[in-house]
Amino acid sequence: MSNQKSVYNFNAGPSALPREVLEKAQSELVDFKESGMSIMEMSHRSATYEEVHNQAINRLRSLFSIPENYEVLFLQGGASLQFAMIPMNFLSAGKKASYIMSGAWSDKALKEAKTIGEVYEAASTKGTNYNRVPSTEEITFDEQDAYVHITSNNTIFGTQFQEFPDTGNIPLIADMSSDILSRPVDVSKFGMIYAGAQKNLGPSGVTVAIIRKDLLENANSSIPTILKYSTHASNNSLYNTPPSFGIYMLGEVLGWMEQQGGLDKIAKNNEEKANLIYNVIDNSNGFYTGHAEKDSRSLMNITFRVADEQLEKQFLQEAKEAGFVGLNGHRSVGGCRASAYNAVPYAACEALKQFMVDFQAKHK
Ligand SMILES: *Cc1c(COP(=O)(O)O)cnc(C)c1O
Repeated sequence: MSNQKSVYNFNAGPSALPREVLEKAQSELVDFKESGMSIMEMSHRSATYEEVHNQAINRLRSLFSIPENYEVLFLQGGASLQFAMIPMNFLSAGKKASYIMSGAWSDKALKEAKTIGEVYEAASTKGTNYNRVPSTEEITFDEQDAYVHITSNNTIFGTQFQEFPDTGNIPLIADMSSDILSRPVDVSKFGMIYAGAQKNLGPSGVTVAIIRKDLLENANSSIPTILKYSTHASNNSLYNTPPSFGIYMLGEVLGWMEQQGGLDKIAKNNEEKANLIYNVIDNSNGFYTGHAEKDSRSLMNITFRVADEQLEKQFLQEAKEAGFVGLNGHRSVGGCRASAYNAVPYAACEALKQFMVDFQAKHK
């Protein structure tokens, strides 16, 4: 351990995992609970694995306060497969689905749904390069819609919904890939919540889907078995071989979150972490400029630019040399992005804050 390179990991995804979890996984890797083998080497039908699997589900239910009438599923194929599975299961013939456009991932979700059925835009902030999320007043949908789709946190543009539209009887389906379990959310307001695990929950390879049970009963039945949510629900996500190591890691990350004090505490930590960096931006007299409008700012992905392009290149280069990883903005936006997910320590954000202050002092 002592010769490990010390870095500040601000990667957008896959991203930082809690150090304690990695060390526990390391200690259990070769001989899991005196079974004489790794968790990766045992049957997904064994009692030992089943306990790990169910513990992960139960921890998720308890941390996120998921009501009884929701299924918790572990799927594969990332959030991107959900872009297709959602319309396949829930967009029936003669119905339309409404998509709230707030960034690159909602673009992809809409595009995929178009290949399945009829969709339209409920609202869009594309005109201002997605520098804010649509307000609830801007969002339109029809009482006959199959569902309304929303992206709760826009990973690439650095914006986040602070409140969600009330869609009444129409199921609200949320892609929470980049902010799930970063704050408490009233799950009962949603028909479905889904997230790839690799930002806030664990390693890549597991996708979490939380679905209200009545939606499964009315879902399309004329699709392949493996693509039906009901298949996975009626088999406790063990219809086929699950990504067992990823689910084990996810369960351990959730255990770590419990130890942190649950979602209220984690939300408070996240706010403090992000504010360290937003305050530098706001107090920099324009040396740093945030991409997102203030009331749309994400606590997970902080997007900003440095005064001029040459200086921005230098900023990223010097940051890299100082041990900061993952600060380059997404290729479609440019600039800089710091992703401060749950597992990114306060100390890393403090180090970035100091680096930004020092860089400005040297170059203004
Ligand atoms: C990363 C991300 C995705 C894509 O996830 P994959 O697991 O790579 O398919 C989708 N939506 C959001 C909001 C994301 O941040």
